[in-house]
Amino acid sequence: MKFVDEFRDAHLIRQAAGEIRRLADPARHYRLMEVCGGHTHAIYRFALKDVLPDNIELVHGPGCPVCVLPMGRVDDGLSIASDPKVILATFGDMMRVPGRNGTPLEHKARGADIRMVYSPLDALKLAEKNPDREVVFFAIGFETTAPSTALTLMRARALGIRNFSVFCNHVTIIPAIRAILDSPDMRIEAFIGPGHVSTVIGCRPYEFICRDYKRPLVTSGFEPLDVLQSIVMILRQLEAGTAFVENQYARVVPWEGNLPALRAMAEVFELRPYFEWRGLGFISQSALKLRDSYAAWDAESRFHIPGIRVTDPKAAQCGEVLKGVLKPHQCKLFGRECTPEKPVGALMVSSEGACAAYYNYALRTTAAAAV
Ligand code: SF4
Repeated sequence: MKFVDEFRDAHLIRQAAGEIRRLADPARHYRLMEVCGGHTHAIYRFALKDVLPDNIELVHGPGCPVCVLPMGRVDDGLSIASDPKVILATFGDMMRVPGRNGTPLEHKARGADIRMVYSPLDALKLAEKNPDREVVFFAIGFETTAPSTALTLMRARALGIRNFSVFCNHVTIIPAIRAILDSPDMRIEAFIGPGHVSTVIGCRPYEFICRDYKRPLVTSGFEPLDVLQSIVMILRQLEAGTAFVENQYARVVPWEGNLPALRAMAEVFELRPYFEWRGLGFISQSALKLRDSYAAWDAESRFHIPGIRVTDPKAAQCGEVLKGVLKPHQCKLFGRECTPEKPVGALMVSSEGACAAYYNYALRTTAAAAV
């Protein structure tokens, strides 16, 4: 299969791993952050750590939108669903994310009309089919999914569909990376840049990381060879003492981004003054809200949102894992109270969550983690 098989070619993978071993200075310890949860899964699914030298440490970043959504926002969405007029529609990952009183799936079992959809357009179709109900789409995701929400809202407005609205939880990646760079715990030497987000925003927005913080960033694809090539490119920069943005995923990521998608986002969304991120706290201008011209389709204007703030269960260490301070298996609940079947935190639920990656591909029990 083109663009898959050649990026899983064992011979090329061995070559890249050899190049990494040649480039890595044994006297140094390299801490690289893979910003995107998709990379974390690729790293564990393909056991890439096994081919890396021990002094290359990979740290997962905040690039899983379900994982960074605080529990209070889940509860806010569920409070909308408690209105019997409402059909709440959301992606499958969100269905199993715990709120304070259970997951959307559990609320559905108790009688709330919550439905899984594959796209915001599916939610809009639900609204067309159910003119006597209010359909609310629980929107989540980085710039990867925000354009499809924007285009759906533009369509709802063009068609004059009034029983459809969006509870907007879209977040933006750049302020989160900046928050990590400004954190006192910051010990990251370089970034494996997010592939999916970059298909929309391009590479230019990352340039401040290299210019102001002197850290290289290489935008990477998700196949094993993509990740290893990105590490080669990062090591070459680190050994040369340079820091600039490189695009390993050029077959998909345009340097300037996807201009029609960016235009659709600009038409529908504006930045919120601040938004709470799980593990990272409040970050200014880090999330999107609907512009006033779309207020008629904004669930936050049309429904009472309680603005619930909920702290995570005491023993859960999702915040530390999200900041890369702890590895998932170092959380006290990992593999015991918290498993993909019975998740305590979103990092164990989401298909991009670091804890799910560790559990599914690497370390199934805390005992194994200690080995
Ligand atoms: S194991 Fe569960 S509780 Fe612990 S950090 Fe991961 S998701 Fe959160």
